[in-house]
Amino acid sequence: MSSKHQLLAFVSLLETSKPYLVNCVRVPALQSLLLFSRSLDTNGDCSRLVADGWLELQLADGESAVRLLAATLRLRAQWESAMDGQLAQARRRRRQRLDDNEEEEAAPGQREEVVVALSKELLQFMASKVSYSLRRLTGLEVQNLYVGPQTITAAPSLPGLFGSSATSPHPTKGGYAVTDFLTYNCLTSNADLYSDCLRTFWTCPHCELHVPLTPLERIAHENTCPQAPRDAPPGAEEAAPEPLRKVSDLQRPYHCKACQKDFLFTPTDVLRHQRQHV
Ligand SMILES: [Zn+2]
Ligand SMILES: [Zn+2]
Repeated sequence: MSSKHQLLAFVSLLETSKPYLVNCVRVPALQSLLLFSRSLDTNGDCSRLVADGWLELQLADGESAVRLLAATLRLRAQWESAMDGQLAQARRRRRQRLDDNEEEEAAPGQREEVVVALSKELLQFMASKVSYSLRRLTGLEVQNLYVGPQTITAAPSLPGLFGSSATSPHPTKGGYAVTDFLTYNCLTSNADLYSDCLRTFWTCPHCELHVPLTPLERIAHENTCPQAPRDAPPGAEEAAPEPLRKVSDLQRPYHCKACQKDFLFTPTDVLRHQRQHV
């Protein structure tokens, strides 16, 4: 196990019409996979992660894995809303050039602040030190990756484990879909079933609740504890509602010609939806 695995990231200029390789940077593997994977699947205690269905990450402990995943969710949401802001601005500029009327520029300074804050958080995230091992799954393992849909939800959904995200059972993988890319507790494992249930007595530092809990149940309680200070994790509480509100500001009616349906979409929603039809 080490915290120094690296992936080669290809940085190409998005502005050029002909995409070619301009730079090649070594970046930490774990953090890049968390930020850029199309799918992330976890086991019950989140110590085992599978990125895009074929790269396995084994982390030393589930508690730091859960905290990393929570940061991942926050950063990806902020990133998406920052991109929405940029796309909306580009569209406004184009419209202005077309009919040349004086339209109100929506607080450009504020948006820059959001981007600067996001860049800082991304650098911090990239520098975080976690021990893990990285390996490519074998064909057989890929075929038997998921527990599959569960008729009886044996595994707890642990509401509050990843902040306020609501979870729902994943229809094909099993486990719980936390976001469109993260599925919790859908990986099969040969670890003994008892390890998920190992509870030790724990006292909540905020409400003095004293009960036997697993490490994940502790995090879930701390995130939902009625007496926990709301400003505790830097940026988590104050930053979360802000981008959400902005996203909804950017939603526009969208009619998809391919599936003949109407939606209320942000610019990135549109791109994501169009990808389904390719
Ligand atoms: Zn508490
Ligand atoms: Zn469509």
